[in-house]
Amino acid sequence: MTFHSAPAPATPHLGPVLFTAEQIRVRVDALADEIARDYGPGELAAVAVLKGSFIFLADLARRLSVRGIHLTIDFMSLSSYGAGTAPAGPVQVQPTPPLRATRGPVLLVDDILDTGLTLQTARELLSRNGITNLRTCVLLDKPARRRVPANADYVGFQVENVFVVGYGLDYNDAYRHLPYLAALVAGASRPDRGTA
Ligand code: 5GP
Ligand code: MG
Repeated sequence: MTFHSAPAPATPHLGPVLFTAEQIRVRVDALADEIARDYGPGELAAVAVLKGSFIFLADLARRLSVRGIHLTIDFMSLSSYGAGTAPAGPVQVQPTPPLRATRGPVLLVDDILDTGLTLQTARELLSRNGITNLRTCVLLDKPARRRVPANADYVGFQVENVFVVGYGLDYNDAYRHLPYLAALVAGASRPDRGTA
């Protein structure tokens, strides 16, 4: 099986599992421990980037809740990919429900930190909304492809330069439902939506 570096090949199909559902569960628990240690119990405002972060956010919110941190949740819709596996251009800001006003700390949650452009755009948007006390939490970090300086305060897993799907992350809106994280590889004539 050959790994292809991102952008993914033209006729991708589901490749090797990178992280199983159990590995993700253990890691999200550890992230919740870290965040709970840093913030202490109480309310914490989360802003999550749609759509890829929705499963990660849902799990993280529940793990934080049992540690005494209750997230309020806002969403931002940012997208640089369109229908493909390579960033299509500048990050597009879709209409987003207004962010609740907060003077307290904010945790920005995204699925994957890749070129860094999405995080940079999100930071600028939040700062224009008066939010400066900001930390960032990403499930995945792909440092090999950074185009602007960016890092996250909380990182689930580092990944090589492969295109990742599952656990909320998509390819053309497929694969988000998978409970694990897998790479896309070349070789099939049609996408395999695998359910293993
Ligand atoms: P960045 O703006 O840092 O390049 O990319 C962040 C966004 O690009 C992520 O929120 C995600 O939507 C998308 N992205 C980057 N790498 C991958 C990947 O390997 N798989 C998937 N499904 N999306 C990715
Ligand atoms: Mg995204």
